Amino acid sequence: MMTMQASKSATAIDEIDLDAPIFDPNAFRLNDEQAAIITTARGLGQTVFAGRAGTYDRDATFPTENYRDLHRAGLLGIAIPKRHGGLGADYQTYAVAAAEIGRYCGATALTWNMHVCSTLWSGPLADDLDMDASIRADHEQRRAVHYKRIVDDGAIYSQPFSEGGAAAAGGVAFGTEAKPVKGGWIVNGKKIFASLSGHADYYGVLCTEIAEGEKASRRNTLYLALPAKTAGISVVGDWDPLGMRGTVSRTLLFKDVFVAEDAALMPRGVYFQAAMRWPHMFLTLSPTYVGLAQAAYDFTVRYLRGEAPGTPPVKRRMYPTKQIAVAQMQIKLEQIKAIWFQAITEARANPTKEQVLRAYAAQYSAMEGANEIATLAIRTCGGQAMLKSLALERIYRDSRCGSLMLPWTAELCLDRIGREALYETGESDD
Ligand SMILES: Cc1cc2nc3c(=O)[nH]c(=O)nc-3n(C[C@H](O)[C@H](O)[C@H](O)COP(=O)(O)OP(=O)(O)OC[C@H]3O[C@@H](n4cnc5c(N)ncnc54)[C@H](O)[C@@H]3O)c2cc1C
Repeated sequence: MMTMQASKSATAIDEIDLDAPIFDPNAFRLNDEQAAIITTARGLGQTVFAGRAGTYDRDATFPTENYRDLHRAGLLGIAIPKRHGGLGADYQTYAVAAAEIGRYCGATALTWNMHVCSTLWSGPLADDLDMDASIRADHEQRRAVHYKRIVDDGAIYSQPFSEGGAAAAGGVAFGTEAKPVKGGWIVNGKKIFASLSGHADYYGVLCTEIAEGEKASRRNTLYLALPAKTAGISVVGDWDPLGMRGTVSRTLLFKDVFVAEDAALMPRGVYFQAAMRWPHMFLTLSPTYVGLAQAAYDFTVRYLRGEAPGTPPVKRRMYPTKQIAVAQMQIKLEQIKAIWFQAITEARANPTKEQVLRAYAAQYSAMEGANEIATLAIRTCGGQAMLKSLALERIYRDSRCGSLMLPWTAELCLDRIGREALYETGESDD
């Protein structure tokens, strides 16, 4: 049987029995190196992050201490190539490790995703895309600067993308503008729901490069890492949401912010190319919710066995209704795991149409499924299980947020699957 978090010290990882992995390395054919990275994430999540999650949630504060631990464990650089001092994990390894973190602290996993994407997108993903040799050489030099800050200094990057209009859904160019000037750009604009605001060292801003007299175009999207302390950047607004409270996703304002050329996380045109050719880049918000689905299931099994810490040792497992509900939860969890693991394994440049449709379906399944399992968990465990002293009600609230994440919200996944299944590129009924 799985054990619960027991200690608050990162050194305790070796001293307690870890929960069984969500994805058993043998069953899912993960190699030893992948399994070792994922075990580190699971160990940190279970022994350290789980114990802190309730406080970050209650106070809606950023998990700063968890980030120090992630840095110490090398996990801030999980997707940074080994030659730059990182762990060199591929997309699949990162995704499974992130699911393990999400199992113990949703807000840490979700914000860690924003950070890791700055390295994943500028790293293994960019390596798959077309660039001429001199641009690739420049990119290699530039990303080395970002990677060194992360590996050596524990710098944290965020990914403000959403603006409250159609840009985050991919419909139009970002309204945040970067005007080219000598040695860099002047950035003006606004980002909403900017997780890690006030806590990241660099804001990895998606914006549109517009020279004097030009029109905004998605092709001219830039991905710039703005140092958080630069003049002209401010964090505004309250943060008191339903769930994912530790993400501290407040509003960021940019007023005439100068940023130097070396801030580019991707060369010109490469973000647009990535969005067209590497669609799984938008599936990276889902691992957190696979972890939350597992967490809701784990809680229910322990609770019904009378083994959930902080609750009396009362067994409820003998009732057929409970057994049926657990069976339904287990079936749902295995369905989510199966499609999601397949989709993360297929992440690459130029996926087939079938693989893209599967990625949307995997995102939908994880985001909606996590909340379905958490809902069933609350109903099945009963009133005493949804008290704020226990993790389940936080898991329930956090899991509700998955479907809202642009660009692949649950609604937009349905929209895309329906349209792309029925129409080939360029087809219309006119
Ligand atoms: C906890 C949390 C953390 C977040 N962190 C970040 C972050 O770090 N960085 C970041 O950039 N964003 C972040 N977001 C923002 C998130 O990705 C969405 O942008 C945000 O939830 C959109 O809210 P909205 O009310 O403006 O949505 P709206 O744009 O008003 O959309 C509402 C809904 O309408 C649907 N919709 C939107 N556009 C279309 C369309 N073109 N066609 C059909 N349907 C459409 C979608 O289903 C969407 O959910 C976070 C959100 C949450 C909840």
